[in-house]
Order: sequence, then structure tokens, then C-alpha cells
Amino acid sequence: MTILEFHKALKNKKTSARETAISYLDKIKKENKNLNAYLEIFSARGGSASGGEYDALKQAKEIDEKIASGEEPGALWGVPIAIKDNILIRGEIASAASKILGNYVASYDAHVIAKLKKAGVIFLGRTNMDEFAMGSSTENSAYGPTKNPRDTSKVPGGSSGGSAAAVAGGLAMAALGSDTGGSIRQPAAFCGVVGLKPTYGAVSRNGLIAMASSLDQIGPITQTVEDAEILFNTIKGKDEMDSTSVLPKVFNRAAKIKTIGIPKEYFSEQGLDPHIKSELDKVINKLEKNYEIHEINLPHTKYALACYYIIVPAEVSSNMARFDGVRYGERKDAGNLIETYKKSRGEGIGLEVRRRILLGTYALSAGYYNAYYSKAQRVRSLVAEDFKKAFAEVDLILAPTVPTPPFKIGEKTNDPLAMYLSDIYTIPANLAGVPALTLASGAQLIAPHFEENRLFEVGKFIEHD
Ligand code: GLN
Repeated sequence: MTILEFHKALKNKKTSARETAISYLDKIKKENKNLNAYLEIFSARGGSASGGEYDALKQAKEIDEKIASGEEPGALWGVPIAIKDNILIRGEIASAASKILGNYVASYDAHVIAKLKKAGVIFLGRTNMDEFAMGSSTENSAYGPTKNPRDTSKVPGGSSGGSAAAVAGGLAMAALGSDTGGSIRQPAAFCGVVGLKPTYGAVSRNGLIAMASSLDQIGPITQTVEDAEILFNTIKGKDEMDSTSVLPKVFNRAAKIKTIGIPKEYFSEQGLDPHIKSELDKVINKLEKNYEIHEINLPHTKYALACYYIIVPAEVSSNMARFDGVRYGERKDAGNLIETYKKSRGEGIGLEVRRRILLGTYALSAGYYNAYYSKAQRVRSLVAEDFKKAFAEVDLILAPTVPTPPFKIGEKTNDPLAMYLSDIYTIPANLAGVPALTLASGAQLIAPHFEENRLFEVGKFIEHD
């Protein structure tokens, strides 16, 4: 059931929040061992008794009691969702799928979690991910890979692979993920579900374990565009704890969508898998019935990946400094301070995260700062400028999300560059800060800042025949 379908059933008393939560928990109990989508379930019924503060079934019961007492249910009451393991829920572990945070219990709710609690959402559990959200396959988790429910020999994508797999496999009605360079959209495309990377600043990052703070955004992973819209409208908005978040009045500017741009650079023969191209062609044919289609140029696309892999490691090297076993993270005592740092970090932090700390520290070092970091920042402006120019010509952009279909588990683990390339079509939107929506078909829509409404309008047009 989608969120909308469930709500119809809930209002007509065809189901209850508790009954629905139980059916998900039972399915998780049966199937999660194989998929490894969840790292922990917030109810003993799901198989892993959490010992945490949060209890999904208790929350569901409270919702049912409110409905029984005659209250009109809000749009998300009783909706059972999965939460990526880097978003804090008070009293629960949030490990970012890292060993170093394996026992870290969140002392407060992330802003989005507080909002969803208020909206009556039920949290089923926390989902697997690439360690600290660095990766494209969920194989960088310290707790084993997640499998793609559509084909369990394949990866679900990443880094929000557990969330996407939970939604695609029917182990959650919807989920939250985070997207720094594609981590919501790429797994959504690999698992055949919907994923939204909101405009930078649309959703508060307070309570999200930071990866690259100038790019990170929390967003929904859902079965339909309508469901993504409902969740987004609930979590968006100003939070005084995140100075980059914006007031709601910047949203909902009315705009008539007439033209859709197809960026030439995203459809190059060498780069794009023919099956994905033919899926996209179908979408374009459909759009032609209602919109004008224009070819456009985003000329700096070819530099986006290189630029991202300077800026991200730079920010990562800074954000990861707090996980030293003293301020945060599991402490491994080793006699003196430096050895304790080394042991705690050496044992607690995985290889990909280490690679980025090293690259970022290098790129920020005195002799190389100008050559790498400053230059990458200038390239980032050029990528953003490309979108600005494009949106002077067209109202929306259509692009692929991924260059290839899901790859086999293990196929790219020894080739970081091949892994990085799977985000080639998602990274530019993060660098520019613009919102982007991936549909179950793998099509990606990109809109100007704070114009998520355009994504939903055209997304629904594509989704409905
Ligand atoms: N796969 C990309 C990376 O490894 C994106 C990750 C993300 O969006 N969190 O950086």
C-alpha cells in the first residue's frame, strides 16, 4: 500500500495503524535476514529487540486510540517508515553503519524526526547504508551489504541502499535517506522506487550525521511521487538549528511548466547504457504530448565528478575529525592520547572513509589548497551557472539518474573510480544545490531552487498513464 492508499483504508476503518505496523514487522522478520535492509528494528516483534526508547507498536497503538476517540487522522498518521542510520532518533543507536559509532545512542531527535513524530509517523527501524554515506552500493557498511530486492545478486545502490531496498521490498511504506552526491536517487533508480533530493536548504540537516555539509540533504524514498510530496511537505522548512534552512514562503511559487530540457551531455553514446536510454526515450515520448522538449547544454558536466571528489573529501576530512574516541566514537585506549586516537580511528573507521579523509586532508594542505580546493570551488560555480542558464531557457530538465543498471555485489568493490562513476548524473544537482526527483523508471527530473512543485507536477504526469 502507498501512503495514500493506506490512509483511505485507515479512514474507512479497513485497517488500523497497529495491524499495518504488525504486517510490516512480520514481513521484516521473515525477509530482512536475507536482504539486510535494516540494521535494527524498533520492536521486539521484528526480530531484533532494540532495547532503545522507541517502540513502533506502542506508537501505532496510540495512533489507533486517537482515531477511536474521534480525532480526524492527519496525512501521515500511522504511516510505518524506515530511517537511514545517519538520522538521529532520540534514545536509539545511530551508527551511520560505522563501527566507530556502533554504540552511539542519539541524545536528541533530528529536526525531520521531530516533525515526523508530530505528524504521527511510525518508525520501523534504522536502515543499512554505506559507512558515513560514502559509497554507491551499500557495500561499504561495517555491517555487511544490503541486497537489491528486485534481484538479490545485485547491489541496491547507495548510500541509502537499505532505505531503498526496504521500500522496494515492501519492508516499509516509505523511508528517509540522505543525498550528498546521489545517495537517495541512485538507489531509488537501482531499486525501482521514487527518491527526492530536495533543494539545498529546503530540509534541516540538524540531527543528520554530516558527510559533506555544503551538499547533504535529507529526503524521502517512496513508492509514488505523491507519497514523496506528502513526506517532503512535512519535513521541509526553517529550523533555527540549521542556518542554511529556509522559510516556507520561498516554496510554492506558481509557475506554468511549458518546456522541458534534455541536456546533451547526459545522453552521450559512450556513457549511457542502451536499456536506460530506451527507458528515457519512452518518458520523452510521453512528455512530448504535454510539453515542449528542447535540447540544452550543461557544458561543465564533464568536470562535475572531479570537482565533487575534491570538495567532498575536503569536507569529509573536517567532519570526520570529531570521531576520535574522545569526543565521539568508541574509544580504544592505548596508553597516550595520540595512540588512543590512532587505535580508535584505525579500528573504527573503514577503508573508503579513510581514503576520503586522506584525500581531503591532502587537498586542503597549505601547498595544495589553491591547486585543488579553490579550483574545485570555482568549477562548482561554473556547474551551478550551467543550471542557471539552462533554467532561463526551460522550466525543467529531464536526465537519466544512473549510467548503468544495478551491478553485481562485489563487482566494483576493488575499483573505487568505477564506483564513483555511477554518480556521474546525480552529482551536478548537488553541486548546484538544485532539487531533483528520481522516478521508478530511472528518469531524473531537475528543477530550479525551491521549485520542488514542478518536480511533483511533471513526476505525477509521467507516473500516471
Ligand atoms: N556515492 C556518492 C559518494 O560516495 C554519493 C554519496 C551520497 O550521496 N551520500 O560520495
